[in-house]
Amino acid sequence: MSHVIPGSPAVTHNNGKSLRILQLYPQDMNIYGDWGNTLALARRAYKHGFEVEILDHNPGQSFPADVDIVLGGGGQDSGQSVIQDDLHANAGTLNQLAEDGAPMLVICGLYQLFGKEFRTREGEVLRGISIFDAHTVGGEERLIGNIVEDSEEFGTVIGFENHSGLTYLGEGCKPFARVSKGEGNNQSDEYEGARVHNVIGTYLHGSLLPKNPAIADYLIAKAAERKYGSFEPAAIDDSLVEKARASASSRPR
Ligand code: GLN
Repeated sequence: MSHVIPGSPAVTHNNGKSLRILQLYPQDMNIYGDWGNTLALARRAYKHGFEVEILDHNPGQSFPADVDIVLGGGGQDSGQSVIQDDLHANAGTLNQLAEDGAPMLVICGLYQLFGKEFRTREGEVLRGISIFDAHTVGGEERLIGNIVEDSEEFGTVIGFENHSGLTYLGEGCKPFARVSKGEGNNQSDEYEGARVHNVIGTYLHGSLLPKNPAIADYLIAKAAERKYGSFEPAAIDDSLVEKARASASSRPR
């Protein structure tokens, strides 16, 4: 299915340029507002002057490889099980897109499956597509609550985590951020998420992007640079975002 943001972009920056955003598996992997990331990203790209097309991909559909930004959300272990064959059928395309510099943001359940494997508490092994050198094991406890973390690239990142899977990064895999409030990847180090190429994996729901526009701008900039060679940011008034960030980061865990 494809949705187009109606009307012409409001600013002259990036005029006539367009971005195609792909949301992976919204039927099965879209909990805690992950679809909100797609809406926020589309709106942000529109404010930067791009025409925006949103596509989604669900199991069994033909995979649209001609996309500029890929987003994926979280899901129950059962949702991860439902999508895993289709994810594997498209692993080559997703790995190629990642290596070619396509920006991607994958949250929680899809973050886990962008690693090497997720071994559930019941002993089921869900094979990942190995974009991240990371693996996840089902834990005893649910790590749930508001989370605040520091990223070298994006400053303070604010969100909400809810997972029992514990993720461990391989030697060469960089974390996304260092946790200042909350748990993050696991209970034995202070890191959260993973980074490779222009791909971000994180446990942060929220939705993440409305509260962290620096990440939305990064995804848009990388997509524009890859497709058009440059990105001209528009000045966007983030005063409401700053209020939302202050309120969200001061909430108790
Ligand atoms: N099922 C996974 C876990 O609990 C992912 C949860 C999620 O995506 N929120 O670890």
